[in-house]
Amino acid sequence: MTIGKHRLGAAGGKTLDVFNPATGEIIASVPRGGVEDVDKAVKAARAALNGEWSSMSPVDRQRVMLKIADLIEANGEELAQLETLNNGKSVMLSRLIEVGASADYMRYMAGWATKIEGSTIDISVSVPPGTKYNAYTRKEPVGVVGAITPWNFPLNMAVWKIAPALACGCTVVIKPAEETPLTTVRLVELCLEAGLPEGVVNVVTGTGEEAGAALTAHPDVDKLAFTGSTEVGKRIGIQAMRDMKRVTLELGGKAPMIMFDDMDLDQLGIAAGVGVFFNSGQTCCAGTRVYAQKGVYEKVCEIMAQVTQSLPIGSGLDPANQINPMVSAKHQAHVSACIAGGIAQGATPLLDTSPYAGAGYFVRPQIFTNVNRDMAIMQEEVFGPVFTITPFEDPEDAVRMANDTKYGLGASIWSTNINTVNRYVPRIKAGTVWVNTHNLPDQNMPFGGYKQSGIGREHGRSALDNYLETKSVCIALG
Ligand code: NAD
Repeated sequence: MTIGKHRLGAAGGKTLDVFNPATGEIIASVPRGGVEDVDKAVKAARAALNGEWSSMSPVDRQRVMLKIADLIEANGEELAQLETLNNGKSVMLSRLIEVGASADYMRYMAGWATKIEGSTIDISVSVPPGTKYNAYTRKEPVGVVGAITPWNFPLNMAVWKIAPALACGCTVVIKPAEETPLTTVRLVELCLEAGLPEGVVNVVTGTGEEAGAALTAHPDVDKLAFTGSTEVGKRIGIQAMRDMKRVTLELGGKAPMIMFDDMDLDQLGIAAGVGVFFNSGQTCCAGTRVYAQKGVYEKVCEIMAQVTQSLPIGSGLDPANQINPMVSAKHQAHVSACIAGGIAQGATPLLDTSPYAGAGYFVRPQIFTNVNRDMAIMQEEVFGPVFTITPFEDPEDAVRMANDTKYGLGASIWSTNINTVNRYVPRIKAGTVWVNTHNLPDQNMPFGGYKQSGIGREHGRSALDNYLETKSVCIALG
């Protein structure tokens, strides 16, 4: 862990093992932080907030952030290899997303550091009569941010929280997922190397129940920034409201992909490869419920099954492999249980149902047809290489079925007819609707969920509001 400028073990001396999902071997151990460590980190973040950091000009904050981005790139291959060893994902994705997109995001947010502004306001109040006032708003850092991140994009999710916090002048205590702490630990070292004052970003490793809960409950944390499951997000939201902490929640999803008869069938490769199997299906907006119109239904089943079968399974260290291990033995068991549950509930598997032989936490991809809304695979997040295909005739049925979920993170419409696209985009209850593509967030495009997929938006200008308070100033003129 890094607290202030010090690399520390947990106060209680406990550690957590970290595994390589491709082999099941232990590759590292990290401190198992708890209440005392979190308290120390929050104190360091508070001291930094009141110290040198608060007096640094926006352009100086920007300069440090740009240096952090440069260091992410300069150490990119080390970070990519570390991420793949720890998370299991393709090293190609580690290079592209964990390193490339993270450096880009840091630079994007560095740009905002010098563009934070309030407004001047004409006001009507005139007491005593005739008195004039000068009113304006100031945007001020929300304070100490407690950031809690998931295991599916470990480095990238850390940067999604740290970058806007720094742009707005906040300080951070981050608690990475217990499965994948290594790149976040390294990132915080790089922040110090870039010249970020000590205590501005601190990392406490440990479990959700211990370090995560301690951070959530800490009275001196002003804002919680959480990405993870809806179940844990609800608990964090409730705790945040008890203390009136500011909170953003980026939670789970069960994204529909609606395919109309006039879709371009050549795009099914993208629909399967990027829409569903990006990161081996361990993506919050993975398109796990396909709704295909009757005219293309058979072709969609056939081509998506062919594409899926062609995806090589294996270690992420070989970039040719596109289905990589699940992050942990526990998650492998969960995804396998979801597949078994689908079969037990009467869905038809289109692909090989035999377990994947060999070491590591691998699961064979699966596609289900003959599904209905009451099946768990239609309602619950599998978070693995599994999706369903349901036929429809009337687009109204497709809209109804697509929205028939507690989630509302992402969705896509596949059609070459502009009128179809324009008619149905507004009808889908999701924070992002892609058209003829799926699963592509961008730093400048607000990202977040409707319904139980979360509260608030990350990315773009709207992300800044999560890390700023608005202060109204009203000056009576003499
Ligand atoms: P998770 O909710 O189990 O864990 C996320 C983080 O919360 C981890 O750091 C964990 O240690 C911590 N945590 C667990 N219990 C806690 C508690 N009681 N108090 C405080 N912290 C606690 O999620 P996961 O399994 O790591 O990640 C997968 C989930 O994340 C999926 O549901 C996925 O959809 C979601 N996700 C959402 C987005 C998004 O932007 N909406 C992005 C990526 C992942």
